[in-house]
Amino acid sequence: MPSIAENVAAVRARIEAAARGRRVLLVAASKMNDAARVREAVAAGVDACGENRVQELVEKNAAHAYDGAPLHFIGHLQKNKIKYLVGAADLIESVDSVELIELIDRRAEKLGLTQDILFEVNIGREGQKSGFLPEELPRALEFAAAAGHIRLRGLMAVPPASANPEDTRPYFAAMRELFIDIGAKKYDNTSMDFLSMGMSGDYEAAIEEGANMVRVGSAIFGARDYSRPAGR
Ligand SMILES: *Cc1c(COP(=O)(O)O)cnc(C)c1O
Repeated sequence: MPSIAENVAAVRARIEAAARGRRVLLVAASKMNDAARVREAVAAGVDACGENRVQELVEKNAAHAYDGAPLHFIGHLQKNKIKYLVGAADLIESVDSVELIELIDRRAEKLGLTQDILFEVNIGREGQKSGFLPEELPRALEFAAAAGHIRLRGLMAVPPASANPEDTRPYFAAMRELFIDIGAKKYDNTSMDFLSMGMSGDYEAAIEEGANMVRVGSAIFGARDYSRPAGR
């Protein structure tokens, strides 16, 4: 089996080919991989680590898994976990409700910091998926603009899963349109810097459609073993 470093190098090469000179950030989606494996990915030069579960993030952070790389939260966020995340995560990619915006802002104010966030968009309008529907974004943008302790840095999406990345392209393209439209409107506390989309199966298509941040798990770490407990 190739090493994590070899996988990172291979993913980087494919990112570069798809990006045609644009800069694309590689986020290692490290759920269910222990601190030692995450450290290998950081040593191999990923641009950030992305974690899905707050408890796993807290444990692996205490084990210095992410030292040397920014830390992103990319999972579904429950409001009672916000206190563990604000200030600990450099970027919370998965903000998907007005209530979360307000609670994150309040926590960040209490800590005296500004929290960078992305809005997650449910671009495939899937019932079981989190994320703002596109028509909910204007209201959310108003809330973000009025919040003094968050900075909205862009959008994130997990489009409907498909075996064929070509099926996902229209969703990526729709995200890019939202990203550009919002950027043109110049909301306060908002700069559309990051468009986070694309995973192991479709990151090249995502980049071709405008992603400048991809979240790659299994292509770096290998297939996840769901029979083992996470975070150790
Ligand atoms: C697990 C995960 C990824 C990475 O998935 P892979 O298919 O393993 O690359 C990306 N984004 C989110 C939100 C994830 O939960």
